[in-house]
Amino acid sequence: MTIYSRRLAAILSSAMILTSAMAQSNFDARFDSYPTYNGEDLEMTVRPTSTDFRLWSPEATKVVLRIYPTGRLSEPEKVVDMTREASTGTWTASVPGQLYGKFYTFQVTQDGKTLAETPGVWAKAVGVNGERAAIIDFSLTDPAGWSDDKGPEVKNFSDVVLYEMHHRDFSIDPSSGIANKGKFLALTEKGTTTPGGMKTGIDHLKELGVTHVHILPSYDYNSVDELNLQENGYNWGYDPLNYNAPEGSYSTNPSDPATRVREMKEMVKALHDAGIGVVMDVVYNHTATNDDSNFELTAPGYYHRHWDDGRYSDASGCGNETASDRQQMRDYIINSVKYWADEYHIDGFRFDLMAIHDTETMNQVAAELKKINPSIFVYGEGWTAGDSPLAPERRALKENVSSMTDIAVFSDDIRDAIKGHYTAAEDRGFATGKPGLEETVKIGIVAATPHPQVDFSKGNNSKFPYAKSPEMIVNYVSCHDDLTLTDKLRKSMPAESDSLRQAAAKLAQTIVFTSQGTPFMFAGEEVFRDKKGVHNSYKSPDEINAIDWNLKEQNRALFDYYKELIALRKAHPAFRMTSADQIARHLVFDKIDSSKTPNLISYSLKDHANGDSWKEIKVVFNGADKPQTVTIPKGNWKIVAVDGRISSAADLGATTGGRTTLAPYSALILARD
Ligand code: CA
Repeated sequence: MTIYSRRLAAILSSAMILTSAMAQSNFDARFDSYPTYNGEDLEMTVRPTSTDFRLWSPEATKVVLRIYPTGRLSEPEKVVDMTREASTGTWTASVPGQLYGKFYTFQVTQDGKTLAETPGVWAKAVGVNGERAAIIDFSLTDPAGWSDDKGPEVKNFSDVVLYEMHHRDFSIDPSSGIANKGKFLALTEKGTTTPGGMKTGIDHLKELGVTHVHILPSYDYNSVDELNLQENGYNWGYDPLNYNAPEGSYSTNPSDPATRVREMKEMVKALHDAGIGVVMDVVYNHTATNDDSNFELTAPGYYHRHWDDGRYSDASGCGNETASDRQQMRDYIINSVKYWADEYHIDGFRFDLMAIHDTETMNQVAAELKKINPSIFVYGEGWTAGDSPLAPERRALKENVSSMTDIAVFSDDIRDAIKGHYTAAEDRGFATGKPGLEETVKIGIVAATPHPQVDFSKGNNSKFPYAKSPEMIVNYVSCHDDLTLTDKLRKSMPAESDSLRQAAAKLAQTIVFTSQGTPFMFAGEEVFRDKKGVHNSYKSPDEINAIDWNLKEQNRALFDYYKELIALRKAHPAFRMTSADQIARHLVFDKIDSSKTPNLISYSLKDHANGDSWKEIKVVFNGADKPQTVTIPKGNWKIVAVDGRISSAADLGATTGGRTTLAPYSALILARD
């Protein structure tokens, strides 16, 4: 999503109480009377002696099916008038034989208008640029060992460590040493290195220790021309075309419908074999285009929301928004994620602008996915990018997360408080010396759960403990949106050296990774990756977006810090408590008067919190540009982190407590048995 969306999103999120949207527009009311159909045979099913078609299009007056020999340009081999089944709102046709290798489209006539041909909304394989749906034998797309393939088991979602990446950013630079640059297959290559011999690709991910990769949209999207890959078109992919087929430009041959399916599965298999889960970024909230989207071309009007006058409402900031509160659309979202979980073994879903969807749909999504695999993690952006006809209390907003089950939201509280506001590049945060943000950082530390020592009225983005459980919160300081952490630090600390900025980066991520909730990081931050100051790089060229893996050699100490930080979190359940009650009892803040000593936070994780082997962990953050001193209780403390160094084995020495000084922009972590 673009920066424009985000800016508005924050405003809408915090001002949600003031929004005076109606429940549903008069224009949309008529859709409630449509018959719905939720059979598994929607659109195309290959049977032993026939290929059957069933398109949901309740108000069509005519639907034509065309069978083609190729994915584009060719004349149809067959043109079939489909038959109406009024009780289900569907149109059916049966063609003799198993039509593997063929392509098809539907063409709807409604209100006297014959619309453009469409592959429908349920194409599971498509030809180049997703113009026509393809009929392939899915059993031939499974990699060896696929039936035994499984992602990592997740006991609690706070055990997950998320790494957000884009296929192209991750592998396109020559320094990656990867052969299949920018492709699904990049993540199947082992033994790749930087020119200096440091690990890249999947080996890098294993070395870093993240549990899940969260990959930017990988379904078929609109903006990159799959017929002209040598042009090196770049896009984040938040412009959905065919929701149930992989994107062609990430495959080695977009013109062969089975290749993209098989290669995406090979990627999932390779990650699973490495013990890493795969999260898909899903964008059901809007379509890339309006009138000629596949939704509009199959059932005009139905899948989108509108204002009273029939205009598309636009809570996505991208021209339209979909209507999850309408039965056929709700079922569509649920069936689509179930399909990805079943067919591609996907381990999690990140919902873009999730608050465009209603809480009821999201609850059903999570419940249905849990039946397939209880380890599937569902989280999303708890905001919209514009007003919506959907009533605020029904939106899957951050503020409504406690009315959902098994759904988490991103904490923009901790994000903005740590590094400074995302819309003001020069603005500093707690970790870069700006005073007054201590309480908002504490809201992040306790994962926005009720805590006796946190005053939510002083929160910057949220004024109440909106999460019932830490498993409802994803903490982060940077993601694909907005400036990378490196760029943010360069803009907000213009006079400082990169080494001081890296001190601030370490502090920022130490806050994220020691906080309750689920930590999330943006790919490449661990090697101090930048995007040359570009804050909205959704279609910027590779020279902006690519990760230069030479940086791993230059910033090896920073990488090792991230690695140890992740290892620390994974080794110590105290950082991964599972209930609000646990946090309220075991996480105790030390009294610090922020008006006298700003940018200083100190707390303890006490009494073997969450079964931790350490009796007490002391965590102190100094976000000031000068040294600050705290008093550590007397005892035998092992040093886990100090002065920009960290060791998950706590072998940085020992201290007996007392007055202890923290370097500027640094964390101190101590532990005692
Ligand atoms: Ca595409």
